[in-house]
Amino acid sequence: MELPELLQLFSQCREESISGRYISPDFITDFVSQLSSDFTIDTLGHSVENRPIHSVVFGAGKVKIFIWSQMHGNESTTTKSMLDFFHFLKQKKDSDFYKKVIKNCTFFMIPMLNPDGSKNWTRVNANEVDLNRDAQDLSQPESKILRGVFDAFKPDYCFNLHGQRTIYGFEETGKPSILSFLAPSADVERSFTFSRKRSASIIAHIFKNLKEDLDGNIGLYNDAFNNNCVGDAFQEAGVPTVLFEAGHYPDDYAREKTRAYVFAAMLYAIEACSETLEYDISAYKDIPEHSACYCDVHVKDEDRKRGIYYVERVEDGEIVFEPTALEPALSSGKFAHALLDNASAFKLP
Ligand SMILES: [Zn+2]
Repeated sequence: MELPELLQLFSQCREESISGRYISPDFITDFVSQLSSDFTIDTLGHSVENRPIHSVVFGAGKVKIFIWSQMHGNESTTTKSMLDFFHFLKQKKDSDFYKKVIKNCTFFMIPMLNPDGSKNWTRVNANEVDLNRDAQDLSQPESKILRGVFDAFKPDYCFNLHGQRTIYGFEETGKPSILSFLAPSADVERSFTFSRKRSASIIAHIFKNLKEDLDGNIGLYNDAFNNNCVGDAFQEAGVPTVLFEAGHYPDDYAREKTRAYVFAAMLYAIEACSETLEYDISAYKDIPEHSACYCDVHVKDEDRKRGIYYVERVEDGEIVFEPTALEPALSSGKFAHALLDNASAFKLP
């Protein structure tokens, strides 16, 4: 499917009950409980603070795809895209894409793996553990649930859905990184194992289709091997895994534009999984690696290197963006998303 057609499909399937950045765990519980009987809903277990972690299963095709989002609580954009995807599954059974692609697949989805972090808008869980560094220790209930599904469902492919900060961009062009991806390494040599080749080919397929709109705005994450990270651990276990990172589209702090492109990226990824993949490692390797070269604001009449970035916190169920001096260790702050007289805190409209 061509990108304009897919984005039109997105606008028809966009889940209208959610927008902006903050999604509460209660919203997810209500949402999944109202899904139609096309979906099989289950509670996989509970978080540290005893919030339920839900699974949504759809389809009976032979290609098994495991998708989870918000293992980092303050990364909600890809969860929104997943809810849009549920809507698509419900609504578009007559579409060619459904008949050609979706019917071949079974989806096991977890729309919010870290409900405690999501409630409090933190990356970590309630024990202050980064679940994406707990793939070996499995010290947390949320990590055990994720691994339990991986072992029981035996997926053919995994999509690990995240969101990235506004600090990423491309040093050479000054463009922001709106979406990024990674075919995680399966070993310290970063070799292109069978499963990593498949991951890379999926990303190449996404890139080929999205670059028409996001030319120069799609990047790769660093591929240093660390099997404490879930993607690396699953790749090491031989299951092709793709890391998705939803980034910042200019002036869109609500990340509604990025939401549409993540939806499109998911559908292209599923298309790649459901068909016989042509390995396209060279196209993957041509995607540039992004770096932390951005901040949110350059304040006028100041040394442009001293940028401001927004720290996000939750206040009355909304995200407030609090201006803070840029930590040089975090980003060079070479580029900024805005040039302002002063940077004051704001709430999304
Ligand atoms: Zn993340």
